[in-house]
Amino acid sequence: MGKVLLLIAGVLVVYWIVRANLRRRRDREIASEQNKTIADDMVRCADCGVHLPRGESLNVRGQFYCNAAHQRHHDPGS
Ligand SMILES: [Zn+2]
Repeated sequence: MGKVLLLIAGVLVVYWIVRANLRRRRDREIASEQNKTIADDMVRCADCGVHLPRGESLNVRGQFYCNAAHQRHHDPGS
């Protein structure tokens, strides 16, 4: 009976160690993924040159703008 308890305790310890390692690795991957997203997501306004997140920019014919007024100023024909 003592051996069975020891075996269960051993299995639990191994399980905890593996789980902790997996969680640490996943946290690191998520952190590096977020850094990459932030670095990739900055674009430059073609009119005034200000940098802003891609999601907040206007993308017109491959050019990024910080607002519609700059888009019209830089590219009046559109
Ligand atoms: Zn601008």
